[in-house]
Amino acid sequence: MRSYDVVVVGAGPAGSAVARRARALGLTVAILDKAVFPRHKLCGALLSGRGQKAMKAVFGLEADSEHFLYSKEVAFKWDGEKLAEFTAPYELTYTYRIELDHRLLNEAIAAGAEDFQGVRVTEIDEKAGRLTLDTGDVLGFGVLIGADGAASPVARHLFGRAFDPDKIGFAFEAEVPDPCADQALMSIDFRIVDWGYGWNFPKKDTRTIGLGSIKSLDQDLMGKMKRYLELEGVADPDAVKIKGAHIPLGDYTKVPGRGNVLLAGDAAGLVDGITGEGLAYAMESGAEAAEAAAAALKAGKPANALGLYQKRIKYIHAELDKANKLRHFEYSKTFSGMFKEKLASSTTMRQSFFDLLAGEKTYADIEKRMSKQVLATIGGKMTGWPSRLAEKLRG
Ligand SMILES: Cc1cc2nc3c(=O)[nH]c(=O)nc-3n(C[C@H](O)[C@H](O)[C@H](O)COP(=O)(O)OP(=O)(O)OC[C@H]3O[C@@H](n4cnc5c(N)ncnc54)[C@H](O)[C@@H]3O)c2cc1C
Repeated sequence: MRSYDVVVVGAGPAGSAVARRARALGLTVAILDKAVFPRHKLCGALLSGRGQKAMKAVFGLEADSEHFLYSKEVAFKWDGEKLAEFTAPYELTYTYRIELDHRLLNEAIAAGAEDFQGVRVTEIDEKAGRLTLDTGDVLGFGVLIGADGAASPVARHLFGRAFDPDKIGFAFEAEVPDPCADQALMSIDFRIVDWGYGWNFPKKDTRTIGLGSIKSLDQDLMGKMKRYLELEGVADPDAVKIKGAHIPLGDYTKVPGRGNVLLAGDAAGLVDGITGEGLAYAMESGAEAAEAAAAALKAGKPANALGLYQKRIKYIHAELDKANKLRHFEYSKTFSGMFKEKLASSTTMRQSFFDLLAGEKTYADIEKRMSKQVLATIGGKMTGWPSRLAEKLRG
């Protein structure tokens, strides 16, 4: 049996961040994935300023123009109607996950993480500190980190399920051949679905067009996706390959692990319920999980890893809580007219949105800019979930 300080299941941005940071801290690391990289991952792959900062801090990589398209040009839409077109205060960067994830994993491997691709975990014995792979290999671990995505097998091992089916999000996406240059227009449609949005992102070879929402609202997302493609100028939506995937949308796992087993990134539900951004949180939480593992192992108490990790990611949970609360302003019918009006004309709201994506401001800062009346309405009776779902959740 080969033994490591840290074994990471999943080699997406969260898993590679765990491995890269754990190596920087001098730990021995194995990283494994069921896929062989380069592999596809459904994603808009807008890497926000916050994501760029995380990538630089963890991997030392910049969002360079060889791998990213840059644009500040933005349109806000409302069920197909263009409300505003403007130049954002910051560059947004767009890439392809097949490329990004491979580069991040290669950084972790170059730093000394031992690499197991094309393998699955068949058994986890956390007390004994070992897991078995479908190849028959047995790996020993001090701390195990599940960075294995929204359907996380490690979360299923811990809690019997990876997510709450009432609260999980679902998104469809298509790559439409249409090579774009820097400063090509991106658009977001805030009313193409209920409790979600649509995006049309420029990429070097394609436009990535997609939409996502809370799955249990059951609003014929595929039908809406085809309509959205038509509205975005795709003549025959049936001729385009549409793929779907789960995305956590605000329902993060309050206790992300057990003892010496931690969850990071989508496996812990760490996606912003307003922006749908998960890449920054994946890399941030991956690095924090590695830090917690290192401290617990150094103290000779691997089972303390979870407690240390929870303290380290409190700031992420606080952000996601605020996003859930504030998303009522974006999605709830109560504010629909006011929100539409602000999208069309409020430079303050635009600035807030892009400050947030740039990682220059937090939701706590945004909240300070919001009207007291809106905040009182949200605080008074809204749960962070659509009213239909809130009633069901209350039982
Ligand atoms: C349609 C869509 C659009 C999105 N757009 C954006 C966006 O524009 N910007 C943004 O910031 N975020 C976006 N997100 C969210 C973002 O994709 C995720 O938050 C991000 O991928 C999380 O990274 P991760 O490393 O936690 O998980 P993943 O990237 O999902 O990586 C998990 C890894 O675990 C592996 N794995 C799974 N099961 C096993 C197993 N049994 N054994 C071994 N390995 C396993 C998988 O192969 C995968 O490589 C989007 C999500 C979706 C679905």
